[in-house]
Amino acid sequence: MIKAQTPPYLSGLNPPQREAVEALDGPVLVLAGAGTGKTRVLTARLAHLLHTGRAFPSQILAVTFTNKAAQEMKERVSHLLGGAPMEGWWLGTFHALAARMLRRYAPLVGLTSDFTIIDADDQVRLVKQLMEAENVDTKKWPPRAVMGTIERWKDKGLRPGDLSAQDGGDMAGGRAVALYAQYQARLKTVNACDFGDLLLHAITILRDPAHADVLAEYHRRFRYIMVDEYQDTNVAQYLWLRLLAKGHNNICCVGDDDQSIYGWRGAEVGNILRFEADFPGAKIIRLEQNYRSTGHILGAASGVIAHNEGRLGKTLWSEADAGEKVVVRGLWDGEAEARFVAEEIEQLQHKGWKLNQMAVLVRAGFQMREFEERFMQLGLAYRVIGGPRFYERQEIRDALAYLRVTAQPNDDLALERIINVPKRGLGDTTVQNLYAHARAQGISLYAAIEQMCAGGTLKPKLRETLQKLTGDFERWRGMIGNTAHPQLAAQMLDESGYMAMWQADKSPDAPGRIENLKELVTGMAEFESLAEFLEHVSLVMEAQLEGQADDAVTLMTLHGAKGLEFDAVFLPGWEDGLFPSQRSMDENGVKGLEEERRLAYVGITRARKRAVISYAANRRIYGNWVNGLPSRFVEELPDPHIDTHAESGLSQSGRSSHWDSSGFSGAQRVPPPAARPMPERVSGAGFAKGNRVTHESFGTGTVIHVDGNKLDIRFDDGNQKRLIDRFVALAEA
Ligand code: ATP
Ligand code: MG
Repeated sequence: MIKAQTPPYLSGLNPPQREAVEALDGPVLVLAGAGTGKTRVLTARLAHLLHTGRAFPSQILAVTFTNKAAQEMKERVSHLLGGAPMEGWWLGTFHALAARMLRRYAPLVGLTSDFTIIDADDQVRLVKQLMEAENVDTKKWPPRAVMGTIERWKDKGLRPGDLSAQDGGDMAGGRAVALYAQYQARLKTVNACDFGDLLLHAITILRDPAHADVLAEYHRRFRYIMVDEYQDTNVAQYLWLRLLAKGHNNICCVGDDDQSIYGWRGAEVGNILRFEADFPGAKIIRLEQNYRSTGHILGAASGVIAHNEGRLGKTLWSEADAGEKVVVRGLWDGEAEARFVAEEIEQLQHKGWKLNQMAVLVRAGFQMREFEERFMQLGLAYRVIGGPRFYERQEIRDALAYLRVTAQPNDDLALERIINVPKRGLGDTTVQNLYAHARAQGISLYAAIEQMCAGGTLKPKLRETLQKLTGDFERWRGMIGNTAHPQLAAQMLDESGYMAMWQADKSPDAPGRIENLKELVTGMAEFESLAEFLEHVSLVMEAQLEGQADDAVTLMTLHGAKGLEFDAVFLPGWEDGLFPSQRSMDENGVKGLEEERRLAYVGITRARKRAVISYAANRRIYGNWVNGLPSRFVEELPDPHIDTHAESGLSQSGRSSHWDSSGFSGAQRVPPPAARPMPERVSGAGFAKGNRVTHESFGTGTVIHVDGNKLDIRFDDGNQKRLIDRFVALAEA
C-alpha cells in the first residue's frame, strides 16, 4: 500500500502557515509581522502548486520586491522539488514582469517590441528639452521636479488624458500636465519608455476593451497570482494586479502594514488594509509566531512600533530563547561609533560568527563612509549592497575631480569629468577642440585651455568662461598650504557652483548627494593635507578593486534590507534628525515620523540573535561639530529588552537623561576630539621583506612580501593578511 507522505515543504510549517499554503482557491491575504514566515509561505505555496500539478511555472505570476529575492525563491522552490529544472517562470519584480508583457504587446501602445527603457538622466534631459522649447523657466521649476511630478502621476496609474490642466497646480507655470503629454508623445516617437511606463502601458493595454483578447489571454494563463511585500505596492501596481487577478481570482498577497516604508515613492499602505473590500470573500490569515529573532529582539521591535497610531496591531511571539538583550550604546562621536561597531564585529568573528551573517544598516547613505574607512583600515571584508561604495558615488567622484585638478592641473581625466559640471556651456565640441589642440601641442588639456585663451581664436564668451574656470583653479591652488583643506574643499564646492547644482535639483536623491558631499568634506579633516587625502582615496579605490571576499560584512540602507535577515545587525546613527530623518518629518509630519518608526521596526527585526543600536553625541558635519540628541526611538525601546551602556566618560546613566545633564553640555563645549591617531606613516618604499610591523587589530607580524603599497604580512597568531601599507606601522625594535 502506498503511504501518503507529507512533502517536506509542508511538514515544517505551523498550522496557519500551512493553511495559507493550502488555501489555493480564492483570494488570500497573509497579514503578519516580521519574521513570521510570510516569504516562506509564498515559497512553499509555489512548490505546492507545482508539486500537486495544479499549475506549471508559466501559469503562476509571482511578484517579489527585488530581482535577487526572485532568484532566491526560484532556487529554493527547485530545491524543494528535488532540483528538477523548470522553465517559463513568471517570477520577478513588478517592473520586470510588466516589461516582459509589454515587449509582447508593445504595438498596442505605439511602440515596437525592441523599445528602449530610458534611465533617470535621460528622463530629466528630455523634460528639460521640452520645457525649454515651451519657454518654461527651468531655474524656477527644475526639470527634475517636473519629472518627479510626472512620476508620481505614473505611480498612481494616471495618464495625461486622465488629468486636467489644473492638476499640475503651479508646477512649470501651470504647464505640467501639458509637458507630461508632450513627454509621453516624445517617448513614443523615439520608441522608448521609462520605468513608470512599464506598468502604465501594461495597464492601458489590459484595460482597453478593444484589447479584451489580451486580458483574456492573461486571465487564462495566470491561474495563480502571488505577491510578497504587498504593503509597499503603489496604485499602478495594484491596478495591474487587480486586472490580472480578475480571471481566476486566485490571488495570495503577503505583507505587514508595520513594514510599509516606501510611502515617499508612492506606496499605498491602504492597499493592504483594503484587501477584503477589493477581493470579496478573501481569506485573511494571521501568523503570529516569529521564527527569526530571539525574544528580546522581538520585544524591543514590538515596543517601538507600538508607538505608531493607525496600525492594525499584531501579536508576535517566539519560541526561541529570550537571547541577548538589544545592546544600546551612546558613543562620543561618529568615529568612535565606527570603531565600536568594527570591534564588535571582530569579536563576534573571533567567536566563530560569519561576516556574511552580519550587517550594518544605516538610515542615510552618507553614514557608510566612516564604516567603510574603518573596515578598510582593519582589513575587514565588507560589501555595499544597493549602491556604489562611498568614493565611487557620482557626486564624490565629481568633487574629487575638482580637488585633483586643484592639486594637479594636468590631470586631464579629472578636468574632463567636471569641465562642464555644473553646466558652463562647454559642450562636447568645445572639449574636442581643446583636446585636439592639446594633442597637437603635446600638452595637457589644462595647458591647452590656457594657451587658447592667450591666443586670439576663441569667441569672447567662450574665452571668458574658460578664463573664469582656470582663474578659479588658480585661486583654489593658491589656498593649498594656507587654508585648511576641508575649508578649501567646501569653498571650492560653493564657488564652482557644484553644490548649488545639487541644491537646485529636486530629484529625490539630491539631498542624499548633498549629504555625501558634506560627509566628504568632514572626512577630509582626518588627513594632514590635501595631498595625503587624495593619496588615501586612490589607495582605497585600488584596494576596492581587488578580489571580493566570500565572507564579508554587509553595509546597506535600512530601506534595502527589507525581507532580509542576519545573525547580527548593527543599527548606528540613532540620533534625532538623522533617524528619524528631519527631512521626512519636515515634509510629512506625523505620517513621516510613523514611516521612520516602521523603518526602525524593519531594522531591528532583521536580526536573528544580536541587535546593536548606537548613537553619537557629536557628529562632525561639513567641518562643524554638531551635538546630537539620541533618537526618540531609543527612548521608545522598552527597558526590559535592552542593555544600555554609555561609553565611559559620557555618563553613567543609560539613555537620554545624560544628554542634557549639565556635565554633558559642559563636555560639549570642550574642543572636538583629536583626529584619529593614525599609525606611523611609512611610505611603501619604507617597508621591506622581513620588517616587523604592527597593526591595530591583527597585532605584530612580519612582512613576507611587498607589492607596491600592498604588504603581505604573516601575523604572529598565524594569520596571513594583505594590507595597504598606511594601515600598519613598523614595530618598535
Ligand atoms: P519579513 O516580514 O521580514 O519579510 P517573513 O514573514 O517573510 O519576514 P520569512 O523570511 O519567511 O519571514 O521567515 C523568517 C525566518 O523564519 C526564515 O529564516 C524562515 O526560514 C524561518 N521560518 C519561517 N517559518 C518557519 C517554520 N514554520 N519553521 C521553522 N522556521 C521557519
Ligand atoms: Mg519576507
